[in-house]
Amino acid sequence: MSEEQLTLERKAIAREYRALLKNSKRNATDADKILIRKAFDLAVEAHQNMRRKSGEAYIFHPIAVARIVSEEIGLGTTSIVCALLHDVVEDTEINLDDIESLFGPRVRLIIDGLTKIKGAHFLENASMQAENFRKMLLTLSDDVRVILIKLADRLHNMRTLGSMRNDKQQKIASETLYLYAPLSHRLGLYNIKSELEDLCLKYKEPEVYSEIETALAKSKAVRTRFINQFTVPVQRALKIADFEFEIKSRTKSIYSIYNKMLTKNIPLEEIYDVFAIRIILNSKQEDEKSDCWKAYSIVTDYYKPNPDRLRDWISTPKSNGYESLHTTVMSPSGKWVEVQIRTKRMDEIAEMGYAAHWKYKESASEHALDEWITRIRETLQNPDPSALEFIDDFKLNLFSKEIFVFTPKGELKNLPQSATALDFAFEIHTQVGAQCIGAKVNHKLVPLSSQLNSGDQVEILTSSKQKPKEDWLRFVVTAKAKSNIKALLKEERRKIAIDGQEILGRKLRNLKINSNDANIKKIHSFFKLTSPHELYYKVGTEQIDLSKLSNLKKEKGQLKYRSARKKKASSIKDIVKSIDTKNTNLVIGDSMESLDYKIASCCNPIPGDNIFGFVTVSDGIKIHRQNCPNAITLMSNYAYRIIKAKWTNAEVISFLAAIKIIGIDQVGLVNDVTKVISSEYNVNMRSISFDTDDGIFEGTIKVYVNDTTHLTELMRKLSAIDGVTKVSRIKGEQLESTVNVAN
Ligand code: MN
Repeated sequence: MSEEQLTLERKAIAREYRALLKNSKRNATDADKILIRKAFDLAVEAHQNMRRKSGEAYIFHPIAVARIVSEEIGLGTTSIVCALLHDVVEDTEINLDDIESLFGPRVRLIIDGLTKIKGAHFLENASMQAENFRKMLLTLSDDVRVILIKLADRLHNMRTLGSMRNDKQQKIASETLYLYAPLSHRLGLYNIKSELEDLCLKYKEPEVYSEIETALAKSKAVRTRFINQFTVPVQRALKIADFEFEIKSRTKSIYSIYNKMLTKNIPLEEIYDVFAIRIILNSKQEDEKSDCWKAYSIVTDYYKPNPDRLRDWISTPKSNGYESLHTTVMSPSGKWVEVQIRTKRMDEIAEMGYAAHWKYKESASEHALDEWITRIRETLQNPDPSALEFIDDFKLNLFSKEIFVFTPKGELKNLPQSATALDFAFEIHTQVGAQCIGAKVNHKLVPLSSQLNSGDQVEILTSSKQKPKEDWLRFVVTAKAKSNIKALLKEERRKIAIDGQEILGRKLRNLKINSNDANIKKIHSFFKLTSPHELYYKVGTEQIDLSKLSNLKKEKGQLKYRSARKKKASSIKDIVKSIDTKNTNLVIGDSMESLDYKIASCCNPIPGDNIFGFVTVSDGIKIHRQNCPNAITLMSNYAYRIIKAKWTNAEVISFLAAIKIIGIDQVGLVNDVTKVISSEYNVNMRSISFDTDDGIFEGTIKVYVNDTTHLTELMRKLSAIDGVTKVSRIKGEQLESTVNVAN
């Protein structure tokens, strides 16, 4: 860099820093400003010689994270200081003691938490990554700012992901979609959540992303005009009623449009046609509820509401503190418009999450945060489930909607949707759950597995003779119930195993065989079991025929049985090495070698598709499409098994692809379709099936093609056939064929 460029860069850094100061809390004291300056100076010095992948000076990153923390999450000085310093301990000479002596123990604690959870995606294996996530949440219960700063860090990394290598982009985007987006949702940071999701989509499905983006931009003028017309009468009436208010129109996020297209199979044009506005009232806290309902009544004076779509999150806020009144009304042109009504306070909470709660200290939602943290702590403290299972359970709860049910005394409990009576029992107390034999829902007797609905009153029936059952895991949905049942079952198994050990001991004494470790090991491999524990348990439950032991050869009490041992592949490198190098259609790994591979059946990639390799334990390397339904799980849980893969055009091989055709049924159509296919010389049909329903036909064709060019060409020709309205490629076999990643 030239001297001139460096001067420009220093100026840009100073500019960013001033913007940070200006936008940090208006009421920051001089002492706060001195502290922020001190942190800034330290960070500048520590990162002095570091540059980001993009080439810019590293210090831009911590400043940007501090600005997000302050401007977009609304946190104060301590958090700004920690954000500025968040990478210092990890990446430079400065250690935690230095931090403590300069900024005190609280800042040390937060930086420590941030340092521990850093770099989770570079970890060697899945369980370590999950374990890290668990630690992160444990730290969260000490100081929630750790996780908020971590989210800001991730948000900035996602915003600047463009300069990373493609495979890194895929890994980071997957992990963000898997962990951080749901987490920000759970914390009520809706803006951050949807930005994270949009950014993930941008890197995971660039074509779809830009298609939606373009469509939204094109229709913007029309949408604005419509919303303006719609709001005119409401605005007038609100003014007459003497309200202070603001009306915002909302555009759906690109990701949520994509998701709707995917799950509901609705074409793009119909989705962005859905309109939404938000009325934000400036109310005194004691008038909030009645003001919102007054505004509701004004809106519905002009437009007819859909009674099924009224949601009152004001009387019963969501457990993450969200409050708002939602309704959907019909506009004169016949379009549905979603209307959200809330006060300024509620809006700030909805946009900024818990940070805003702290601003409104007197509100009851303070309590909700504590409750949430307590719940996480409970889940975390239970030592039994493996960290990986924990993440899955935890994620389940992050994603699901909530129901509200009552105890017999009228106490309100929050549960995830599709929670059962047994979940409720565990929610009350572990002991109540463990001894639960049934429940009365609204005074009617129901089985443990019956699903609860919002508003149910639930009474749990228990018996001291009841024992937890394996089967219960099939229907409980809360993380709390799951982990408790697993722990109880484990305890039960342990007791049975102790009995089994005694029984086996007696039998061995009878046969004059020593019960030492070497013999026990031989016995469990003789019965093809994996551990002494399993052996004892199976003996305890009488699943093993101990009389077979008398056939074993022995000498002076020692068994002579030799078990056949299989050699296990010990590392990913060994597996990769043991695979023959013969295929030339694809190059794999950092060195881009030609290794043997298999095509994953869940997404059937063909040359031209963006792909990655996944090293399986027993089936070599499998090639998946980057937008495979399983890719997110694979990449975020088994990042270390992902290897790069790229098509080459050394050899022509055929690949299977599936196409869906929709159109209007008419004579000769199937014939036309098959003609087109057979006239394409490099395409071979494997199967074809057509369904007709009320004049609409839907066909699925499986063909062998060489690459995406041929496939696209074929699809173009098919869409040109008279009567065909839509031709699309079928993505994998959808989610039902979840890859068994252990194999
Ligand atoms: Mn960082």
